[in-house]
Amino acid sequence: MRPVHKQGSNVLGAFRYGPPGRPGSSTPNGLGDQMRGSWEALRNTPQAFRLVWAASRGAALVSAGLMLVAAILPAAQAWTGKLIIDAIVQAAGADLAPMDGLRQVLPYVLLEFGLLLAGSVAGQARSLSERVLQTRLSNHVSELIIRQAIRLDLAFFEDPVFYDMLQNARRQADTSALRIVNAILQLVQQGITLTSLVALLIRFSPWLAVIGFVSAIPSFLAQSQYAERAFRAVSRRAPESRLLAYLEMILTSNDAVKEVKLFGLGEPLLGRYRELFVRFFEEDRTIARQRTIASLGWGLLSNLAYYGSYAWIVLRTVGGLITLGDMTMFLSIFRQSQGAIRSLLSSLNSVYESNLFLDNLMTYLELEPTLSSPSDDALVAPEPIRQGIEFRHVSFAYPGAEKLVLRDINLHIRPGERIALVGLNGAGKTTLIKLLTRLYDPLEGQVLLDGVDLRQYSLESLHQRFGVIFQDFMHYQFSVRENIGFGQVDALDDTERIIAAAERGGAAPVIEALPDGYETVLGRRWERGAELSGGEWQKVALARAFMRKAEVLVLDEPTSSLDAEAEYEIFQRFGELMEGRIAVLISHRFSTVRMADRIVVLSEGRIHEIGSHDELMAKDGAYARLFNLQAEGYR
Ligand code: ADP
Repeated sequence: MRPVHKQGSNVLGAFRYGPPGRPGSSTPNGLGDQMRGSWEALRNTPQAFRLVWAASRGAALVSAGLMLVAAILPAAQAWTGKLIIDAIVQAAGADLAPMDGLRQVLPYVLLEFGLLLAGSVAGQARSLSERVLQTRLSNHVSELIIRQAIRLDLAFFEDPVFYDMLQNARRQADTSALRIVNAILQLVQQGITLTSLVALLIRFSPWLAVIGFVSAIPSFLAQSQYAERAFRAVSRRAPESRLLAYLEMILTSNDAVKEVKLFGLGEPLLGRYRELFVRFFEEDRTIARQRTIASLGWGLLSNLAYYGSYAWIVLRTVGGLITLGDMTMFLSIFRQSQGAIRSLLSSLNSVYESNLFLDNLMTYLELEPTLSSPSDDALVAPEPIRQGIEFRHVSFAYPGAEKLVLRDINLHIRPGERIALVGLNGAGKTTLIKLLTRLYDPLEGQVLLDGVDLRQYSLESLHQRFGVIFQDFMHYQFSVRENIGFGQVDALDDTERIIAAAERGGAAPVIEALPDGYETVLGRRWERGAELSGGEWQKVALARAFMRKAEVLVLDEPTSSLDAEAEYEIFQRFGELMEGRIAVLISHRFSTVRMADRIVVLSEGRIHEIGSHDELMAKDGAYARLFNLQAEGYR
C-alpha cells in the first residue's frame, strides 16, 4: 500500500500558494524585509539567462556585443564635444583664416559624426536582434509550457489552482525572461557608461558625482515598491482573470450561443464581465497614478540637483578656472550620468519586476507529476492479459477533498469479460475508470493487473493497453482520419485500419456521406468543416477506441446520444469486436447493460450489487428496481 496523497491534501500541496512565488518565499513587510525579498526575487535571473541562451545564442551574443558599443559611446561623445569646442576657441583666438580654422576643427566634427552614425546603426541592429530574440524566446517558452502540461497528470488539470498557476506562468512569462536579460544588459551598459563618465567627472569634482548619484536613489526605491504592488495585484487576480476569460469564452463560443440567445444570457453575463474589468482597471489605474506622482516628485529633485550644479560650473567657467570646452563636457557628462544612473536604477527595478513574473513560470515548470513509472525496474504491462484486473480494498478521495468517492471496492474482472457499471450520477463510476486506467492512484488498497500493482508497470505501456472513450470525449476539429487515427497515433496513415475501426464503431456510413470522405475536416472551427450530430460524433469516437488493439476497452457512456437501434447493434457485435478482451462500459440504457456478462451496481462509492442480468433480476434489489423503472418508461 502506498498512498500517493493524504486525504484532504491538495495535489499542488505546498504550491497552494499566495503570490508571489514558490513555497518559502515570504511576504516582505518592513524595508529590511523588502530588501531581503528583493534579493530573493532576483533568484530567477540565472534561469532567465539560461532561457534566453537556449532560445537563441546568436541573437543573444549580437545583443550583448552591441550593448558594449552603446556603453562607451556617451563618454566618447562628451570627450569629442570638448575637443570641438576647444579647437574652435583656439582657432578663434589664434586669428586664423576661416578655412584654416575650419581645417583644424573639421576632423573632430567628422569624428563626432562617425560616433553618431555608429550609435544609430548599433541602435537599429540591436532592436532587430532583440526582436529576433523575442520571437524565439516566446516560442521556446510556449513549448516548455506545453511540454510540462503534457508531462503533468490529470490530477493537476482537475485542480482550479493549477489553472491559476498555468495562467500566471503564461502571462508575460516569455517577455519577462527577455526583459530580465535586456535589463541586465542595460545595467551593464549603464554601469560601463557611468564608470567612464564618472572617470571624466571626478577629475573635475567628486562632489558633483555624489550629488548626481544620491538624487536618483529615492525615485528608485519608490519605483520598486510600485512594481511589487502591480505584480501582487495581477497575481492575486488570477482566479478572477480566469473568470474573465471564461465569460469571454461563453459569450463568443459557438457551443454556448444557443443557450446564451434563448435564455437571454448575453447582457447579464456581459455585465459581470464589465464589472470585473472595471474593478481591475480601477486597481491598475490607482497604482499607475501613484507611480506617476512619485516619479514626478522625485524627478523634480534630480532636476534641482542638476541646475544647482549647472550654476556652479558656469561660475567656475566665468571665473576662468576651466575652459569653455571643459564646461560643455562637464555639463553633458553631468546630464548624461544622471540619465545613466536613472536608467541603471530603473533597469534594476525592471530586473526585479520581471523576476517576480518569471517566478510564476519557474514555479509551474518545477511541478512534478504525482503519478510516474517506477524509476528503475518498471514492468511492461502484459499482453495478452491472463488473470485480469483486480480491485483490492480500493478507497479513493480526490486530492483536496475530504469525501471518499470510492470505499473498499473489491472486484475481479477476468479476461474476456464484459462488465457494465451502473449507478446514479455521482456514484463513482467514472472515478473507478480513472483508477482502472491509472489516471489516479488509489488512496488505499491496490489495483492489480495480472496480480501486479498498476504502480509497478511503466505508465506508457499501461496506457497502451487501454482503449478508452469518456463521456466528455474530444471533438477534434481535425479530419475524420485524424479523429479516428488518434486512437493509435502511429497508425495515422494506415487507411485500412482506420476504415476497419470506423466500421466497428458504426461510423462508416456517416463518413461515406461526407464531401471529402475520411479527409473531411470536422467541426465548425474551420471554413470547410462539416458539423456532425451528437450521435455521429459518438460513432467517430467509438471508432477511435476501436482503432487501438487494446486489451481493455472502456466506454464511459459514449453511446448516450446514439439512437437505441445503433447502440443495440454495436453491442450485439460487441462480443465479436472484443475478441476475448476485457470490456468495461458505463451506460444508463438498461437494454445495453443487460447484455454484459456481469453488472456492477455502485451506490455512494460502494459496490451495492454484482451479478448477471438474470441473477440481479432474480434478486429483486436495486438493479431490478432501476431496470423496471426504465422498462416502464418504454412501455
Ligand atoms: P459517476 O461517474 O458515477 O457519475 P463520478 O465518478 O464522476 O460519478 O463522481 C463521483 C464523485 O466524485 C462525485 O461526487 C463528484 O462530485 C466527485 N468528483 C468527480 N470528479 C472530481 C474531481 N476532479 N475533483 C473532486 N471531486 C470529483
